[in-house]
Amino acid sequence: MDSFLLEYRDPLFGILIFLILVFIVSFFSYWWAYYKKREEESSLSRFFQKFEESADKEIVEIEKKKDTKRAFYLLAKAFEKSGDFEKAIAVYLNLSKMEDDFKNRHDILKKLAIVYFKAGFLEKARKIFLESLRIYPRDKEALNYLTLIYEKLQDYKKANEVLESLEELMDVNNQKIYFNILDTVKNQKDTQTLLEIYKNFPNHHRLILEYLFRVNPKTAWKIVKENDFKDIIDILWKLDKKDVDMDIVSKNSFLRELYSAKEYFDFKKRSSIFELDVLLNLKENIADLDFEYVCKDCKNIFPIPFSRCPNCLSIDSLKVELILTKRKVDEKSLSFQ
Ligand SMILES: [Zn+2]
Repeated sequence: MDSFLLEYRDPLFGILIFLILVFIVSFFSYWWAYYKKREEESSLSRFFQKFEESADKEIVEIEKKKDTKRAFYLLAKAFEKSGDFEKAIAVYLNLSKMEDDFKNRHDILKKLAIVYFKAGFLEKARKIFLESLRIYPRDKEALNYLTLIYEKLQDYKKANEVLESLEELMDVNNQKIYFNILDTVKNQKDTQTLLEIYKNFPNHHRLILEYLFRVNPKTAWKIVKENDFKDIIDILWKLDKKDVDMDIVSKNSFLRELYSAKEYFDFKKRSSIFELDVLLNLKENIADLDFEYVCKDCKNIFPIPFSRCPNCLSIDSLKVELILTKRKVDEKSLSFQ
């Protein structure tokens, strides 16, 4: 028995003990490092969990459910929202390959058409919506977008044809009148149609007056109602002096203030409208009037007027806001300097 065991006095025994000690020390230091790493990882996870409670549940759930399609869908939405339409289109095209369900595939088709529409690829959007309507002919959203596409393509007859299909699903009278005005304006047809619409449908007064003051100011002054002056203050402000009807201006307090501030006439020294009052009372000729356009529905502000809000697509939701600006130096007077 003794012959199989090393004597404790044997030098080999010392080496063995040393190796065992080295092994024990390295094992514990390895285990300690591993334990510390795990501990740090779990404390980091606990730290992240605190934020998960307040984060968007829909996105947090993606990881738990391993829902790749949902992740792609949200990615496409994010690209669409940030205006990166090319990437949104690419993601929707990928999604269409991943989706097996017919109805879901059709939904992706429609989303793709909407992104093409927003990106300005009207022809592609039109083709997809027509295909979509071939499958579901009474789809209100697709029909609505199709009218918008024809409006942008200035094909108002086609837009009205689509409205006939929409008529069974919703009230389209306002839109019909709107396209009727746009068609008359585009083809410069007899203004009688516009005068009739102006008399009977007050919703579209701005669109009609903008056209009439541009092409036929005399007729415009004849028919414009006093109630509409403030709604078209920018149009009136930008009229040339020769196109302003002095008779009508002299009889209306608001117009007297407006055109005195514009320095066409010298009727008034004060105005109840702050911006006009400032212009009337400034000693030096340093300020000018400018305008911005607010959508009454979505409250977005635009630098140029619109008949359909570029953001929420409402018709006739425009409200004019006045802003005072620094007067631009006349280029002609500069050239003589
Ligand atoms: Zn809007």
